[in-house]
This record gives sequence, C-alpha cells and structure tokens, in this order.
Amino acid sequence: MLLPIRLIPLHPVSVELIGSLIRPLRSMFLTDVSVEPIMDSIVDKVLDESRGQYNSTEIIVELLRCYPLANAKIAGITSVDLFVPVLTYVFGEAQLDGPACVVSTFRLDDTIYGLAPDPASFFERTLKETVHELGHTYGLLHCRNFNCAMHTSTTAEDIDLKAATLCDDCMEKLGM
Ligand SMILES: [Zn+2]
Ligand SMILES: [Zn+2]
Repeated sequence: MLLPIRLIPLHPVSVELIGSLIRPLRSMFLTDVSVEPIMDSIVDKVLDESRGQYNSTEIIVELLRCYPLANAKIAGITSVDLFVPVLTYVFGEAQLDGPACVVSTFRLDDTIYGLAPDPASFFERTLKETVHELGHTYGLLHCRNFNCAMHTSTTAEDIDLKAATLCDDCMEKLGM
C-alpha cells in the first residue's frame, strides 16, 4: 500500500476546499488521507518581495522542517502564487520519490483571468494538480498520455484537458 497522504493547508487557503479533496484522493491512491491544522506562518517566510510571489522550493523546505518524520506524503496547499527562480510561475512543485510537495490554487481560479468564478472547475483543477504533485512524490515522472493527471500542464486550459486520474501505465508503476 502507498504511504498515507497528509494535506497541509497553508494560509491563505480554503480549508473547506482541501477537505473536499480527501475522498477523491483516497479512492485514487487507495491510502489514508487526512488534513492537518492550517499553518499560518509558512508562506510569509518565503515571499520574494521583488516578484510578489512565493518560492515553492522554500515552502517544501519549511514543510520538511515541520514534518520531519512524517512517514507519509506531505502536500502543502495554498492560494498564493508560487514560483521557482527559472520560471514565471508554477502550479506546484514536488520532490520526486520524496516526502513533500506543494500546490498553488492561485492560477486555477478563473477570476484571475477576468472570468466569472467557476467553483466546479476550480475544484477539478485543484484535484488534478494535487494528484499530479502527489504522483511525483510516489516516484511518477511526466506522462505522455494527454488524459493522465501526470501529463505536464503549463496553463489552466492544459489542466482542463486532462483527467483527475492516472492512466493505466502510471497506475501500474504505482503497483496498483
Ligand atoms: Zn509535474
Ligand atoms: Zn500516465
């Protein structure tokens, strides 16, 4: 069985949204999924003031510091805009076959593109990106199958094209 998943709400973020991920993640990875208390001190530490964005790699470092012996996959989820220095933005970042990942809902929200809010789409995108980053922590690489959640996405439209589930090849790599 895969290691359990612990979702860490990183303020600011909707705890309700994160709670709604429990059930689909459980049926996807067939392992225990729980939500930890919200952490309100992490993202402020990693703000890059010149960019107005938050360093995703540094968030992972902070998560590992807070959960050093988790024996679980630790997924931080936040609504702030994440970046790594070589990229304009990232939807998330993960340690390949490692303990931690982080997901940002910032660019999954239609309102930042000047569109009306779409809660169903926002939830689906958040689920897909959480499955994607968790998949990396379980050792999965990017997948060429356009429908697979492990397919790489650079825009919100890309995310809409793929499913929230893993393809048969990726499932097999997980031993499922
Ligand atoms: Zn990826
Ligand atoms: Zn796949």
